[in-house]
Amino acid sequence: MHVRALGASACIGNPGYTTCLLAGQDTLVDCGTGAGTLSTEDILALRSVLLTHSHLDHTGLLPLLADVHACHDGPGLDVYGLPETLDALSRHFFNDAIWPDYARQENGKSWLRMRPIDVGDTVPLTNGLATALPAQHTQPALGWLIEGPWRALAYSGDSAPCPAFWQWVCGVPSLTDVICEVCYNDALQALAGKQGHSTPGQLASYLAKLPSQAQFWVTHIDSRCRTEVIQEMQRLCPANLRLSMLKEGTLIEL
Ligand SMILES: [Zn+2]
Ligand SMILES: [Zn+2]
Repeated sequence: MHVRALGASACIGNPGYTTCLLAGQDTLVDCGTGAGTLSTEDILALRSVLLTHSHLDHTGLLPLLADVHACHDGPGLDVYGLPETLDALSRHFFNDAIWPDYARQENGKSWLRMRPIDVGDTVPLTNGLATALPAQHTQPALGWLIEGPWRALAYSGDSAPCPAFWQWVCGVPSLTDVICEVCYNDALQALAGKQGHSTPGQLASYLAKLPSQAQFWVTHIDSRCRTEVIQEMQRLCPANLRLSMLKEGTLIEL
């Protein structure tokens, strides 16, 4: 199974699109503006969306994806997330004012099937398994573990340093890749704390516990401090890890 980054930025404009990962051909992990790079055929091939939390940069394209399925009589989407996340979407997106309620059943069918889950729950994928992981953010939030036939990828979602997340992922024997948000540099630690994000220095102790040769992908860097975050990560990252910045088009084989 391949995981392709469609969006890996904290905001739109240069350098790109907000958070969205395509796992295989039929599953999205988060649904930020990166989802807008998919063709109609790609969108109709989607079956599931795994959400980390309700914030717009991770969910904003879901209403428009549902619209494509509705307009082309597609199969519709199973949407997995915490109950609070799905409830926020229902109240604020799919309320017939902002957008049609595509979760409503019509003629026995709905275009969005809301599937509430909790930490530890699993979702079968075509060629693997997804597991909801703990996260700490200003809104109820998850990370995701994506296990393919050979390797496993952990994705933090938006999160302040979360000991339970790192304890979990360091116990996955097939773990080879971690995609982790590092929104701000260390000088902005107070801002990061207020917004439920991470800085390089806060992650150092967790990086030391990752399996040797694991690939650590940094994502969701605020464009105002991109240079500083990259420099601080390069300084802190243990030599036995491979450090890269996730960007649109990055392909990870699992
Ligand atoms: Zn967020
Ligand atoms: Zn975000």
